Amino acid sequence: TCGICVEKCPFDAIEIINLPQELDEEPTHRYGENSFALYGLPAPQEGRVTGILGPNGIGKTTAVHALAAEITPNLGRFQDEPDWETVLEAYRGTELQEYLEDLKEGEVTVARKPQYVDRIPDTFDGKTSELLSGVDERGVADDLVERLGIASVVDQPIDTLSGGELQRVALAATLVRDADFYFLDEITPYLDIGQRVTAARLVQELSADGRSMLVVEHDLAVLDLLADALHVAYGEPGVFGVVTPPKSTKAGINEYLKGYLENENMRIRPEAIEFEEHAPRSEGYGDTLVEYPELTKSYGDGEFTLAVDAGEIRHNEVLGIVGPNGIGKSTFAKLLAGRLEPDGGDFDVDLDISYKPQYVEIDRQMRVDSFLRSITDEFGTSYWNTEIAGPLQLDRIMEQNLTDLSGGERQRVAIAACLSRDADLYLLDEPSAHLDVEQRVLATRAIRRYTETHDKTAMVIDHDIYMIDLLSDRLQVFEGTPAERGHAGRPMGMREGMNTFLANLDVTFRRDERTGRPRINKPGSQKDREQKREGEYYYAP
Ligand code: ADP
Ligand code: ADP
Repeated sequence: TCGICVEKCPFDAIEIINLPQELDEEPTHRYGENSFALYGLPAPQEGRVTGILGPNGIGKTTAVHALAAEITPNLGRFQDEPDWETVLEAYRGTELQEYLEDLKEGEVTVARKPQYVDRIPDTFDGKTSELLSGVDERGVADDLVERLGIASVVDQPIDTLSGGELQRVALAATLVRDADFYFLDEITPYLDIGQRVTAARLVQELSADGRSMLVVEHDLAVLDLLADALHVAYGEPGVFGVVTPPKSTKAGINEYLKGYLENENMRIRPEAIEFEEHAPRSEGYGDTLVEYPELTKSYGDGEFTLAVDAGEIRHNEVLGIVGPNGIGKSTFAKLLAGRLEPDGGDFDVDLDISYKPQYVEIDRQMRVDSFLRSITDEFGTSYWNTEIAGPLQLDRIMEQNLTDLSGGERQRVAIAACLSRDADLYLLDEPSAHLDVEQRVLATRAIRRYTETHDKTAMVIDHDIYMIDLLSDRLQVFEGTPAERGHAGRPMGMREGMNTFLANLDVTFRRDERTGRPRINKPGSQKDREQKREGEYYYAP
Protein backbone atom coordinates (compact mmCIF):
# COMPACT_ATOMS: atom_id res chain seq x y z
CA THR A 1 0.00 0.00 0.00
CA CYS A 2 1.07 3.60 -0.40
CA GLY A 3 0.34 4.28 3.27
CA ILE A 4 -2.75 6.35 2.56
CA CYS A 5 -5.12 3.40 2.60
CA VAL A 6 -4.88 0.49 4.94
CA GLU A 7 -6.15 -2.12 2.53
CA LYS A 8 -5.43 -2.68 -1.11
CA CYS A 9 -5.16 0.49 -3.17
CA PRO A 10 -8.64 1.33 -4.47
CA PHE A 11 -7.15 3.21 -7.39
CA ASP A 12 -4.62 0.58 -8.46
CA ALA A 13 -1.86 3.17 -8.03
CA ILE A 14 0.73 1.96 -10.46
CA GLU A 15 3.94 2.06 -8.51
CA ILE A 16 4.55 1.23 -4.93
CA ILE A 17 6.67 4.01 -3.53
CA ASN A 18 8.46 4.78 -0.35
CA LEU A 19 6.67 7.59 1.39
CA PRO A 20 8.78 10.35 2.89
CA GLN A 21 11.03 9.12 5.68
CA GLU A 22 11.60 11.03 8.86
CA LEU A 23 14.64 13.27 8.45
CA ASP A 24 17.92 12.31 9.98
CA GLU A 25 18.54 15.69 11.59
CA GLU A 26 17.56 17.75 14.60
CA PRO A 27 13.85 18.62 14.55
CA THR A 28 12.50 22.04 15.38
CA HIS A 29 10.24 20.56 18.00
CA ARG A 30 9.33 17.15 19.32
CA TYR A 31 6.50 16.74 21.79
CA GLY A 32 8.08 13.79 23.57
CA GLU A 33 9.54 10.33 23.16
CA ASN A 34 7.92 8.69 20.10
CA SER A 35 5.72 11.76 19.67
CA PHE A 36 5.12 14.01 16.73
CA ALA A 37 8.19 15.90 15.46
CA LEU A 38 8.25 19.03 13.34
CA TYR A 39 11.16 19.85 11.04
CA GLY A 40 11.62 23.37 9.72
CA LEU A 41 9.43 26.41 10.35
CA PRO A 42 7.60 28.78 8.04
CA ALA A 43 9.15 32.24 7.88
CA PRO A 44 6.71 35.14 8.23
CA GLN A 45 7.84 38.15 6.21
CA GLU A 46 6.83 41.75 6.60
CA GLY A 47 4.69 43.01 3.77
CA ARG A 48 4.17 39.54 2.34
CA VAL A 49 1.51 36.85 2.34
CA THR A 50 3.19 33.52 3.02
CA GLY A 51 1.16 30.40 2.33
CA ILE A 52 1.45 26.92 3.78
CA LEU A 53 0.26 24.01 1.67
CA GLY A 54 0.05 20.56 3.13
CA PRO A 55 -2.18 17.94 4.71
CA ASN A 56 -3.92 18.18 8.04
CA GLY A 57 -2.00 16.80 11.03
CA ILE A 58 1.40 17.72 9.62
CA GLY A 59 2.35 20.27 12.29
CA LYS A 60 1.10 23.59 10.93
CA THR A 61 -0.52 24.53 14.23
CA THR A 62 2.58 23.43 16.13
CA ALA A 63 4.65 25.72 13.90
CA VAL A 64 2.37 28.65 14.63
CA HIS A 65 2.52 27.99 18.38
CA ALA A 66 6.28 28.35 18.02
CA LEU A 67 6.02 31.52 15.92
CA ALA A 68 3.67 33.01 18.52
CA ALA A 69 6.05 32.05 21.37
CA GLU A 70 3.39 29.87 22.94
CA ILE A 71 5.89 27.06 22.87
CA THR A 72 9.65 27.41 22.77
CA PRO A 73 10.93 25.07 20.06
CA ASN A 74 12.82 22.37 21.96
CA LEU A 75 14.99 21.25 19.01
CA GLY A 76 14.01 17.69 19.89
CA ARG A 77 15.55 17.93 23.37
CA PHE A 78 12.30 17.44 25.24
CA GLN A 79 14.04 16.06 28.34
CA ASP A 80 16.34 19.05 28.67
CA GLU A 81 14.60 21.97 27.06
CA PRO A 82 16.90 24.56 25.48
CA ASP A 83 16.51 28.26 26.25
CA TRP A 84 15.76 30.93 23.63
CA GLU A 85 19.45 31.74 23.20
CA THR A 86 20.15 28.19 22.07
CA VAL A 87 17.15 28.25 19.74
CA LEU A 88 18.30 31.54 18.24
CA GLU A 89 21.75 30.09 17.71
CA ALA A 90 20.18 27.20 15.78
CA TYR A 91 18.42 29.63 13.44
CA ARG A 92 21.24 32.10 12.96
CA GLY A 93 21.71 32.93 9.30
CA THR A 94 18.25 31.68 8.27
CA GLU A 95 15.21 33.66 7.10
CA LEU A 96 13.85 33.24 10.61
CA GLN A 97 16.67 34.86 12.55
CA GLU A 98 15.26 38.37 12.61
CA TYR A 99 11.74 37.24 13.33
CA LEU A 100 12.85 35.02 16.23
CA GLU A 101 15.01 37.79 17.71
CA ASP A 102 11.99 40.10 17.78
CA LEU A 103 9.91 37.29 19.21
CA LYS A 104 12.40 36.71 22.02
CA GLU A 105 12.34 40.41 22.87
CA GLY A 106 8.54 40.23 23.11
CA GLU A 107 8.23 42.57 20.16
CA VAL A 108 5.90 40.48 18.05
CA THR A 109 2.16 40.65 18.50
CA VAL A 110 0.09 37.91 16.95
CA ALA A 111 -3.52 37.72 15.75
CA ARG A 112 -5.00 34.47 14.51
CA LYS A 113 -8.13 33.08 12.93
CA PRO A 114 -8.96 29.55 14.04
CA GLN A 115 -9.64 26.77 11.55
CA TYR A 116 -13.00 25.66 12.90
CA VAL A 117 -15.22 28.72 13.02
CA ASP A 118 -18.21 26.54 13.95
CA ARG A 119 -16.77 26.43 17.47
CA ILE A 120 -16.72 30.20 18.03
CA PRO A 121 -20.25 30.26 19.53
CA ASP A 122 -19.04 27.83 22.23
CA THR A 123 -16.55 30.38 23.49
CA PHE A 124 -18.25 33.69 22.78
CA ASP A 125 -21.70 34.56 24.02
CA GLY A 126 -22.97 37.83 22.59
CA LYS A 127 -23.69 39.75 19.43
CA THR A 128 -21.47 40.06 16.36
CA SER A 129 -21.03 43.78 17.05
CA GLU A 130 -19.80 43.05 20.59
CA LEU A 131 -17.31 40.50 19.33
CA LEU A 132 -15.91 42.94 16.76
CA SER A 133 -15.85 46.08 18.92
CA GLY A 134 -13.92 44.17 21.60
CA VAL A 135 -10.99 43.58 19.22
CA ASP A 136 -11.17 46.53 16.81
CA GLU A 137 -7.69 47.87 17.57
CA ARG A 138 -7.26 49.40 14.11
CA GLY A 139 -10.71 51.02 14.07
CA VAL A 140 -11.63 49.46 10.73
CA ALA A 141 -14.45 47.12 11.77
CA ASP A 142 -17.17 49.08 9.95
CA ASP A 143 -15.23 49.03 6.72
CA LEU A 144 -14.51 45.29 6.91
CA VAL A 145 -18.12 44.52 7.85
CA GLU A 146 -19.22 46.37 4.74
CA ARG A 147 -16.72 44.75 2.40
CA LEU A 148 -17.32 41.25 3.72
CA GLY A 149 -21.07 41.68 3.38
CA ILE A 150 -21.90 40.91 7.02
CA ALA A 151 -23.70 44.16 7.91
CA SER A 152 -27.00 42.27 8.16
CA VAL A 153 -25.70 40.12 11.02
CA VAL A 154 -23.94 42.67 13.27
CA ASP A 155 -26.92 42.86 15.60
CA GLN A 156 -27.44 39.12 15.71
CA PRO A 157 -26.19 36.87 18.51
CA ILE A 158 -23.14 34.90 17.35
CA ASP A 159 -24.85 31.56 17.93
CA THR A 160 -27.49 32.35 15.26
CA LEU A 161 -25.00 32.85 12.42
CA SER A 162 -24.51 30.40 9.54
CA GLY A 163 -21.07 28.91 8.87
CA GLY A 164 -20.44 31.30 5.98
CA GLU A 165 -21.34 34.28 8.16
CA LEU A 166 -19.18 33.02 11.03
CA GLN A 167 -16.25 32.56 8.68
CA ARG A 168 -16.46 36.19 7.56
CA VAL A 169 -16.99 37.49 11.11
CA ALA A 170 -13.95 35.50 12.27
CA LEU A 171 -11.88 36.91 9.44
CA ALA A 172 -13.00 40.45 10.28
CA ALA A 173 -12.28 39.89 14.00
CA THR A 174 -8.72 38.84 13.12
CA LEU A 175 -7.93 41.52 10.56
CA VAL A 176 -9.19 44.40 12.76
CA ARG A 177 -6.49 43.58 15.32
CA ASP A 178 -3.30 45.64 15.29
CA ALA A 179 -0.68 42.90 15.08
CA ASP A 180 2.68 42.29 13.44
CA PHE A 181 1.95 38.71 12.52
CA TYR A 182 -1.43 37.35 11.42
CA PHE A 183 -2.06 33.66 11.16
CA LEU A 184 -5.13 32.55 9.21
CA ASP A 185 -5.93 28.86 9.35
CA GLU A 186 -8.10 28.43 6.23
CA ILE A 187 -10.13 31.37 4.97
CA THR A 188 -12.43 29.67 2.44
CA PRO A 189 -14.68 27.04 4.07
CA TYR A 190 -18.37 27.92 3.62
CA LEU A 191 -17.58 30.95 1.43
CA ASP A 192 -18.66 31.23 -2.19
CA ILE A 193 -16.13 32.21 -4.82
CA GLY A 194 -16.92 35.93 -4.74
CA GLN A 195 -16.47 35.93 -0.95
CA ARG A 196 -13.24 33.95 -1.28
CA VAL A 197 -11.78 36.51 -3.65
CA THR A 198 -12.81 39.37 -1.31
CA ALA A 199 -11.22 37.59 1.66
CA ALA A 200 -8.00 37.12 -0.34
CA ARG A 201 -7.91 40.82 -1.26
CA LEU A 202 -8.36 41.92 2.37
CA VAL A 203 -5.47 39.71 3.48
CA GLN A 204 -3.28 41.11 0.70
CA GLU A 205 -4.16 44.71 1.57
CA LEU A 206 -3.15 44.20 5.18
CA SER A 207 0.16 42.67 4.13
CA ALA A 208 0.80 45.71 1.92
CA ASP A 209 0.53 47.72 5.16
CA GLY A 210 3.78 46.06 6.27
CA ARG A 211 2.33 43.15 8.23
CA SER A 212 3.34 39.49 8.03
CA MET A 213 0.50 37.24 6.93
CA LEU A 214 0.72 33.45 7.18
CA VAL A 215 -2.14 31.53 5.60
CA VAL A 216 -2.98 27.84 5.53
CA GLU A 217 -5.29 27.18 2.60
CA HIS A 218 -6.48 24.11 0.70
CA ASP A 219 -8.37 25.86 -2.11
CA LEU A 220 -5.51 25.99 -4.57
CA ALA A 221 -7.00 28.60 -6.91
CA VAL A 222 -7.37 30.96 -3.93
CA LEU A 223 -3.94 30.12 -2.50
CA ASP A 224 -2.43 30.84 -5.91
CA LEU A 225 -4.18 34.19 -6.03
CA LEU A 226 -3.29 35.10 -2.46
CA ALA A 227 0.24 34.03 -1.58
CA ASP A 228 3.53 35.78 -2.44
CA ALA A 229 5.53 32.74 -1.36
CA LEU A 230 4.72 29.22 -0.26
CA HIS A 231 6.02 26.61 2.15
CA VAL A 232 5.04 23.05 1.36
CA ALA A 233 4.48 20.82 4.38
CA TYR A 234 4.85 17.06 3.98
CA GLY A 235 5.56 14.00 6.04
CA GLU A 236 3.35 11.48 7.78
CA PRO A 237 0.36 13.07 9.48
CA GLY A 238 0.48 12.52 13.23
CA VAL A 239 4.06 11.18 13.10
CA PHE A 240 6.29 13.87 11.67
CA GLY A 241 6.05 16.91 9.43
CA VAL A 242 8.59 18.84 7.38
CA VAL A 243 8.08 22.48 6.40
CA THR A 244 10.16 23.28 3.31
CA PRO A 245 11.99 26.57 2.84
CA PRO A 246 9.83 29.06 0.92
CA LYS A 247 9.20 28.44 -2.78
CA SER A 248 7.49 30.64 -5.32
CA THR A 249 3.75 30.10 -5.07
CA LYS A 250 3.58 28.77 -8.60
CA ALA A 251 6.44 26.30 -8.17
CA GLY A 252 5.16 25.20 -4.75
CA ILE A 253 1.66 24.39 -6.02
CA ASN A 254 2.94 22.74 -9.18
CA GLU A 255 5.37 20.53 -7.27
CA TYR A 256 2.70 19.66 -4.77
CA LEU A 257 0.30 18.61 -7.52
CA LYS A 258 3.03 16.65 -9.26
CA GLY A 259 3.68 14.85 -5.99
CA TYR A 260 7.40 15.59 -6.23
CA LEU A 261 9.36 18.36 -4.48
CA GLU A 262 12.28 19.33 -6.67
CA ASN A 263 14.74 21.01 -4.30
CA GLU A 264 14.07 18.45 -1.62
CA ASN A 265 14.23 15.59 -4.14
CA MET A 266 11.27 14.08 -2.37
CA ARG A 267 8.29 12.18 -3.71
CA ILE A 268 5.27 12.91 -1.53
CA ARG A 269 2.59 11.05 -3.50
CA PRO A 270 2.68 8.12 -5.94
CA GLU A 271 0.85 9.94 -8.70
CA ALA A 272 0.29 13.45 -10.01
CA ILE A 273 -2.99 15.32 -9.74
CA GLU A 274 -3.77 16.42 -13.29
CA PHE A 275 -6.29 18.74 -14.86
CA GLU A 276 -7.78 18.28 -18.27
CA GLU A 277 -7.08 21.30 -20.39
CA HIS A 278 -10.09 20.95 -22.59
CA ALA A 279 -13.69 20.77 -21.61
CA PRO A 280 -13.63 17.25 -20.22
CA ARG A 281 -15.56 14.15 -21.13
CA SER A 282 -18.20 14.18 -23.76
CA GLU A 283 -21.45 15.41 -22.36
CA GLY A 284 -22.68 11.85 -22.63
CA TYR A 285 -26.08 10.66 -23.60
CA GLY A 286 -27.11 8.88 -20.45
CA ASP A 287 -30.76 8.04 -19.87
CA THR A 288 -32.77 10.68 -18.12
CA LEU A 289 -33.12 10.25 -14.38
CA VAL A 290 -35.60 13.08 -14.03
CA GLU A 291 -36.98 15.77 -16.26
CA TYR A 292 -38.55 18.88 -14.74
CA PRO A 293 -40.47 21.83 -16.20
CA GLU A 294 -39.93 25.51 -15.41
CA LEU A 295 -40.51 25.96 -11.69
CA THR A 296 -40.81 28.89 -9.30
CA LYS A 297 -40.72 29.04 -5.54
CA SER A 298 -41.02 32.01 -3.17
CA TYR A 299 -40.65 32.27 0.57
CA GLY A 300 -42.81 34.49 2.75
CA ASP A 301 -44.17 37.48 0.86
CA GLY A 302 -41.70 36.99 -1.95
CA GLU A 303 -38.68 37.95 0.18
CA PHE A 304 -36.81 35.38 -1.84
CA THR A 305 -37.90 34.00 -5.22
CA LEU A 306 -36.27 31.22 -7.18
CA ALA A 307 -36.96 30.63 -10.89
CA VAL A 308 -35.76 27.31 -12.33
CA ASP A 309 -35.36 26.75 -16.08
CA ALA A 310 -36.72 23.45 -17.36
CA GLY A 311 -34.05 20.76 -17.48
CA GLU A 312 -33.10 17.17 -16.91
CA ILE A 313 -30.69 15.27 -14.73
CA ARG A 314 -29.08 12.32 -16.45
CA HIS A 315 -28.75 8.92 -14.99
CA ASN A 316 -25.22 8.20 -13.81
CA GLU A 317 -23.77 11.68 -14.11
CA VAL A 318 -22.08 13.95 -11.59
CA LEU A 319 -23.74 17.30 -11.96
CA GLY A 320 -21.69 20.15 -10.50
CA ILE A 321 -23.66 23.03 -9.04
CA VAL A 322 -22.11 26.47 -8.80
CA GLY A 323 -23.31 29.87 -7.71
CA PRO A 324 -23.20 32.19 -4.72
CA ASN A 325 -24.52 31.37 -1.26
CA GLY A 326 -28.15 32.24 -0.57
CA ILE A 327 -29.22 31.90 -4.21
CA GLY A 328 -31.63 28.95 -3.95
CA LYS A 329 -29.45 25.86 -4.44
CA SER A 330 -30.83 24.03 -1.41
CA THR A 331 -34.33 25.20 -2.27
CA PHE A 332 -33.99 23.55 -5.69
CA ALA A 333 -32.83 20.33 -4.04
CA LYS A 334 -35.88 20.36 -1.77
CA LEU A 335 -38.14 20.80 -4.80
CA LEU A 336 -36.52 17.74 -6.41
CA ALA A 337 -36.96 15.76 -3.23
CA GLY A 338 -40.63 16.70 -3.02
CA ARG A 339 -39.99 18.29 0.36
CA LEU A 340 -41.22 21.65 -0.98
CA GLU A 341 -44.09 22.28 -3.39
CA PRO A 342 -43.35 24.71 -6.23
CA ASP A 343 -45.61 27.79 -6.50
CA GLY A 344 -45.42 27.69 -10.28
CA GLY A 345 -44.86 24.61 -12.46
CA ASP A 346 -46.23 21.15 -12.29
CA PHE A 347 -43.77 18.69 -10.78
CA ASP A 348 -44.71 15.82 -8.56
CA VAL A 349 -41.83 13.38 -8.86
CA ASP A 350 -40.49 12.47 -5.46
CA LEU A 351 -36.87 11.51 -5.83
CA ASP A 352 -35.28 9.70 -2.99
CA ILE A 353 -32.36 12.00 -2.19
CA SER A 354 -29.46 11.26 0.12
CA TYR A 355 -28.28 14.65 1.32
CA LYS A 356 -25.07 15.85 2.94
CA PRO A 357 -25.70 19.36 4.20
CA GLN A 358 -23.13 22.15 4.06
CA TYR A 359 -22.76 22.28 7.84
CA VAL A 360 -22.20 18.80 9.09
CA GLU A 361 -23.90 18.13 12.40
CA ILE A 362 -23.28 14.61 13.56
CA ASP A 363 -22.26 15.36 17.14
CA ARG A 364 -23.52 12.30 18.93
CA GLN A 365 -22.04 10.15 21.65
CA MET A 366 -21.47 7.32 19.22
CA ARG A 367 -18.48 5.70 17.62
CA VAL A 368 -17.84 6.24 13.90
CA ASP A 369 -18.17 2.52 13.13
CA SER A 370 -21.49 2.18 15.00
CA PHE A 371 -22.82 5.26 13.25
CA LEU A 372 -21.93 4.00 9.77
CA ARG A 373 -23.12 0.46 10.55
CA SER A 374 -26.51 1.94 11.48
CA ILE A 375 -26.72 3.45 8.00
CA THR A 376 -25.76 0.55 5.73
CA ASP A 377 -25.79 -3.23 5.81
CA GLU A 378 -22.77 -3.12 3.54
CA PHE A 379 -20.63 -1.71 6.34
CA GLY A 380 -17.40 -3.69 6.62
CA THR A 381 -17.85 -5.65 3.39
CA SER A 382 -14.74 -5.64 1.23
CA TYR A 383 -16.68 -3.76 -1.41
CA TRP A 384 -17.65 -0.98 1.01
CA ASN A 385 -14.12 -0.86 2.43
CA THR A 386 -12.64 -0.46 -1.03
CA GLU A 387 -15.10 2.06 -2.40
CA ILE A 388 -15.90 4.15 0.66
CA ALA A 389 -13.76 3.59 3.75
CA GLY A 390 -10.43 3.40 1.89
CA PRO A 391 -10.65 6.52 -0.27
CA LEU A 392 -12.20 8.52 2.58
CA GLN A 393 -9.46 7.37 4.98
CA LEU A 394 -11.89 6.18 7.61
CA ASP A 395 -9.90 3.22 8.92
CA ARG A 396 -7.91 5.27 11.39
CA ILE A 397 -10.93 6.94 12.95
CA MET A 398 -13.48 4.09 13.09
CA GLU A 399 -13.13 3.69 16.85
CA GLN A 400 -13.34 7.37 17.67
CA ASN A 401 -16.39 9.14 19.00
CA LEU A 402 -18.25 11.41 16.58
CA THR A 403 -17.93 14.23 19.10
CA ASP A 404 -14.12 13.98 19.11
CA LEU A 405 -13.63 14.30 15.35
CA SER A 406 -11.86 17.22 13.70
CA GLY A 407 -13.69 19.17 10.99
CA GLY A 408 -12.02 17.24 8.17
CA GLU A 409 -12.73 13.88 9.84
CA ARG A 410 -16.37 14.79 10.40
CA GLN A 411 -16.67 15.81 6.74
CA ARG A 412 -15.31 12.45 5.57
CA VAL A 413 -17.69 10.53 7.82
CA ALA A 414 -20.61 12.63 6.52
CA ILE A 415 -19.65 11.98 2.87
CA ALA A 416 -19.39 8.25 3.63
CA ALA A 417 -22.80 8.29 5.34
CA CYS A 418 -24.36 10.12 2.41
CA LEU A 419 -22.97 7.71 -0.21
CA SER A 420 -23.83 4.65 1.89
CA ARG A 421 -27.57 5.31 1.88
CA ASP A 422 -29.79 3.81 -0.79
CA ALA A 423 -31.16 6.66 -2.93
CA ASP A 424 -31.95 7.83 -6.47
CA LEU A 425 -29.81 10.91 -6.20
CA TYR A 426 -26.87 11.86 -3.98
CA LEU A 427 -26.68 15.54 -3.13
CA LEU A 428 -23.48 16.73 -1.48
CA ASP A 429 -23.26 20.34 -0.34
CA GLU A 430 -19.65 21.54 -0.06
CA PRO A 431 -17.87 18.24 0.46
CA SER A 432 -14.51 20.07 0.23
CA ALA A 433 -14.97 22.06 3.46
CA HIS A 434 -12.06 21.37 5.85
CA LEU A 435 -10.55 18.65 3.65
CA ASP A 436 -6.92 19.08 2.70
CA VAL A 437 -5.90 18.87 -0.96
CA GLU A 438 -5.10 15.15 -0.76
CA GLN A 439 -8.45 14.40 0.82
CA ARG A 440 -10.29 16.55 -1.73
CA VAL A 441 -8.80 14.49 -4.52
CA LEU A 442 -9.60 11.20 -2.79
CA ALA A 443 -13.16 12.34 -2.01
CA THR A 444 -13.60 13.42 -5.64
CA ARG A 445 -12.52 10.00 -6.85
CA ALA A 446 -14.71 8.25 -4.30
CA ILE A 447 -17.78 10.18 -5.45
CA ARG A 448 -17.01 9.65 -9.16
CA ARG A 449 -16.22 5.97 -8.82
CA TYR A 450 -19.20 5.37 -6.63
CA THR A 451 -21.59 6.87 -9.18
CA GLU A 452 -19.93 4.90 -11.99
CA THR A 453 -19.76 1.49 -10.37
CA HIS A 454 -23.05 1.79 -8.49
CA ASP A 455 -24.97 3.20 -11.43
CA LYS A 456 -25.86 6.24 -9.33
CA THR A 457 -26.33 9.93 -9.93
CA ALA A 458 -24.84 12.76 -7.88
CA MET A 459 -25.25 16.51 -7.60
CA VAL A 460 -22.37 18.29 -5.94
CA ILE A 461 -22.45 21.89 -4.77
CA ASP A 462 -18.96 23.25 -4.21
CA HIS A 463 -16.99 26.49 -4.40
CA ASP A 464 -13.55 24.98 -4.94
CA ILE A 465 -13.23 25.40 -8.69
CA TYR A 466 -10.55 22.70 -9.02
CA MET A 467 -12.75 20.21 -7.23
CA ILE A 468 -15.76 21.08 -9.39
CA ASP A 469 -13.58 20.72 -12.49
CA LEU A 470 -12.24 17.30 -11.44
CA LEU A 471 -15.64 16.06 -10.31
CA SER A 472 -18.32 17.13 -12.75
CA ASP A 473 -19.67 15.82 -16.05
CA ARG A 474 -21.96 18.80 -16.49
CA LEU A 475 -22.68 22.04 -14.64
CA GLN A 476 -25.77 23.84 -13.44
CA VAL A 477 -25.26 27.55 -12.82
CA PHE A 478 -27.24 29.55 -10.27
CA GLU A 479 -27.21 33.33 -10.54
CA GLY A 480 -29.13 36.36 -9.24
CA THR A 481 -29.01 38.43 -6.08
CA PRO A 482 -28.43 36.41 -2.90
CA ALA A 483 -31.33 36.44 -0.43
CA GLU A 484 -33.57 38.21 -3.00
CA ARG A 485 -33.81 36.47 -6.31
CA GLY A 486 -32.25 33.32 -7.74
CA HIS A 487 -32.23 31.80 -11.20
CA ALA A 488 -31.25 28.21 -11.88
CA GLY A 489 -30.12 27.55 -15.44
CA ARG A 490 -30.55 24.21 -17.19
CA PRO A 491 -27.70 21.76 -16.68
CA MET A 492 -25.12 22.25 -19.44
CA GLY A 493 -21.74 21.02 -20.67
CA MET A 494 -18.62 21.98 -18.75
CA ARG A 495 -17.32 24.59 -21.20
CA GLU A 496 -20.64 26.42 -21.49
CA GLY A 497 -21.23 26.07 -17.74
CA MET A 498 -17.83 27.43 -16.71
CA ASN A 499 -18.18 30.30 -19.20
CA THR A 500 -21.61 31.25 -17.86
CA PHE A 501 -20.53 30.99 -14.25
CA LEU A 502 -17.21 32.83 -14.56
CA ALA A 503 -18.66 35.56 -16.79
CA ASN A 504 -20.98 36.39 -13.86
CA LEU A 505 -17.93 36.67 -11.61
CA ASP A 506 -15.88 38.48 -14.26
CA VAL A 507 -12.96 36.10 -13.62
CA THR A 508 -10.91 34.26 -16.26
CA PHE A 509 -8.43 31.40 -15.86
CA ARG A 510 -5.30 30.74 -17.90
CA ARG A 511 -3.37 27.47 -17.96
CA ASP A 512 -0.06 27.00 -16.28
CA GLU A 513 2.25 26.15 -19.17
CA ARG A 514 3.95 23.26 -17.37
CA THR A 515 1.10 21.47 -15.68
CA GLY A 516 -2.10 22.65 -17.37
CA ARG A 517 -3.35 23.82 -13.97
CA PRO A 518 -5.96 26.59 -14.19
CA ARG A 519 -4.77 29.90 -12.68
CA ILE A 520 -6.80 33.06 -12.12
CA ASN A 521 -5.78 35.85 -14.53
CA LYS A 522 -4.98 39.29 -13.19
CA PRO A 523 -8.02 41.47 -13.95
CA GLY A 524 -7.29 43.60 -17.02
CA SER A 525 -4.20 41.60 -18.05
CA GLN A 526 -3.75 40.79 -21.73
CA LYS A 527 -4.89 37.18 -21.27
CA ASP A 528 -7.89 38.34 -19.25
CA ARG A 529 -9.03 40.79 -21.92
CA GLU A 530 -8.37 38.33 -24.75
CA GLN A 531 -10.29 35.51 -23.12
CA LYS A 532 -13.22 37.75 -22.26
CA ARG A 533 -13.38 38.93 -25.86
CA GLU A 534 -13.48 35.33 -27.03
CA GLY A 535 -15.88 34.27 -24.31
CA GLU A 536 -13.48 31.56 -23.10
CA TYR A 537 -13.32 31.95 -19.34
CA TYR A 538 -11.92 28.57 -18.33
CA TYR A 539 -11.10 26.04 -21.03
CA ALA A 540 -9.21 28.54 -23.17
CA PRO A 541 -7.61 26.92 -26.21
P1 ADP B 1 -1.91 20.58 11.77
O1 ADP B 1 -2.09 21.98 12.26
O2 ADP B 1 -1.00 20.49 10.57
O3 ADP B 1 -3.19 19.84 11.53
P2 ADP B 1 -0.85 20.06 14.45
O4 ADP B 1 0.35 20.91 14.60
O5 ADP B 1 -2.11 20.50 15.10
O6 ADP B 1 -1.10 19.75 12.90
O7 ADP B 1 -0.54 18.61 15.00
C1 ADP B 1 0.51 17.79 14.50
C2 ADP B 1 0.65 16.54 15.35
O8 ADP B 1 1.15 16.91 16.64
C3 ADP B 1 -0.67 15.81 15.59
O9 ADP B 1 -0.46 14.44 15.45
C4 ADP B 1 -1.00 16.14 17.03
O10 ADP B 1 -1.71 15.08 17.61
C5 ADP B 1 0.37 16.30 17.66
N1 ADP B 1 0.30 17.24 18.82
C6 ADP B 1 -0.19 18.47 18.83
N2 ADP B 1 -0.08 19.05 20.05
C7 ADP B 1 0.52 18.11 20.84
C8 ADP B 1 0.92 18.07 22.22
N3 ADP B 1 0.76 19.14 23.03
N4 ADP B 1 1.48 16.93 22.66
C9 ADP B 1 1.68 15.87 21.85
N5 ADP B 1 1.33 15.83 20.55
C10 ADP B 1 0.76 16.94 20.04
P1 ADP C 1 -28.33 28.34 -1.10
O1 ADP C 1 -28.54 26.87 -0.94
O2 ADP C 1 -28.01 28.75 -2.51
O3 ADP C 1 -27.35 28.92 -0.12
P2 ADP C 1 -31.07 28.54 -0.08
O4 ADP C 1 -31.94 27.81 -1.05
O5 ADP C 1 -30.73 27.83 1.18
O6 ADP C 1 -29.75 29.06 -0.81
O7 ADP C 1 -31.76 29.91 0.34
C1 ADP C 1 -32.08 30.93 -0.58
C2 ADP C 1 -32.71 32.11 0.17
O8 ADP C 1 -33.96 31.71 0.71
C3 ADP C 1 -31.87 32.59 1.35
O9 ADP C 1 -32.01 34.00 1.43
C4 ADP C 1 -32.54 31.94 2.55
O10 ADP C 1 -32.37 32.74 3.71
C5 ADP C 1 -34.00 31.91 2.13
N1 ADP C 1 -34.73 30.78 2.73
C6 ADP C 1 -34.35 29.49 2.68
N2 ADP C 1 -35.27 28.71 3.30
C7 ADP C 1 -36.26 29.53 3.75
C8 ADP C 1 -37.50 29.33 4.46
N3 ADP C 1 -37.91 28.11 4.82
N4 ADP C 1 -38.23 30.42 4.75
C9 ADP C 1 -37.84 31.67 4.38
N5 ADP C 1 -36.69 31.91 3.70
C10 ADP C 1 -35.91 30.86 3.38
